[in-house]
Amino acid sequence: MRLARFDGGKIGAVTDAQIHDITDIVDADAGRADAGMVHLLARWEQLESTVTSRVADASHATPVDAVALDCPIPDPTKIPSIPSNYRKHIAEMGSQLTVAERGVFLKAPSSLVGPDGVIRLPYSDRRTDHEAELGVVIGRRASHVSLDEALSYVAGYTCLFDVTVRGQEERSMRKSFDTFTPIGPWITLADEIDDPDDLAIECHVNGEVRQSSRTSEMIYSVPQLIELVSAVMTLEPGDIIATGTPQGVGPITDGDTLSMSIERIGRLELTVSADGWTTCPFNP
Ligand code: MN
Repeated sequence: MRLARFDGGKIGAVTDAQIHDITDIVDADAGRADAGMVHLLARWEQLESTVTSRVADASHATPVDAVALDCPIPDPTKIPSIPSNYRKHIAEMGSQLTVAERGVFLKAPSSLVGPDGVIRLPYSDRRTDHEAELGVVIGRRASHVSLDEALSYVAGYTCLFDVTVRGQEERSMRKSFDTFTPIGPWITLADEIDDPDDLAIECHVNGEVRQSSRTSEMIYSVPQLIELVSAVMTLEPGDIIATGTPQGVGPITDGDTLSMSIERIGRLELTVSADGWTTCPFNP
C-alpha cells in the first residue's frame, strides 16, 4: 500500500491506480481535523486494519490520475541528509571523502514540495543541480538504534530530490532554499520493499537519462544510515532521511522537466522555474 496527500491535504491510501480517501479515519483517531500524515505514520500499527477495510470496500475510491497529489509529508521535524554515499558521485565531484568522514547534515523542512510543486531557482549566476535520492520515512521514534533493528523503524520510502546550489557555503544553506526538497509522489510502505538496498534509481531531465544506478551502490546501507543518524539526533515519525545521490548530477535550468523513478516506489516529476531569480548577493 501507498500513502499520499491529495486535493489540498486529504489523506489517501493508494492501491491499483485508485486512491481511497482515509482522511476521516485519521482525524477520528486523532480527535481533531487535519491530523495529517505524521499522525497516520505514528499510529499506523493501530490504524492499518481500518484502512485496509476502507480500501477493500472501495466506496471512497477515485482514480489516482484524477486527483492532485500534494507533498506527502509537509511537516516532518527534520530532514537528515547524507552527502557522499555513492563512490562514482564522490569521484565526479573531485572529492575523496565519504559518508564515513562527512556524516550527516540537515535540510530545512520548509524546502519540501510535492508532485504539485515547482522547483524555483534562486540565482541566475550560480549553478543549481539535481540530485535524485531514495528517501527513507521514519515510522516511530528512534534513538541509538542498532543495525539489526534499524529497518523496523522505517514506515516506508519515497522519491526525493536534494536540489543543490553548488559552492562553498555550508550544505544546509545551499540545499535548503524553498522548493529544494521535492518528495513523492507518495510513501510506499516498507512491507512492499523487500530490500531497500537493492533498488534501481533513475533521474531524467527533459526525457534524457542523467542518473542511473542502484541503491546497492550506496557506501552506507539504509540500516547503517539509521544507526548513524539516530546516534546523533532522535528521529521522529515522519522524519525523512535523504540517503545520498549516485553519479550523473548536473545543472538544471528554467523550463526543465525533472523526473526521477525508484523501482517499486514510484515516479516523481516536476518542472523548474527561474521566475523571480536574482544575482546571488554573496560569494558571486
Ligand atoms: Mn544529496
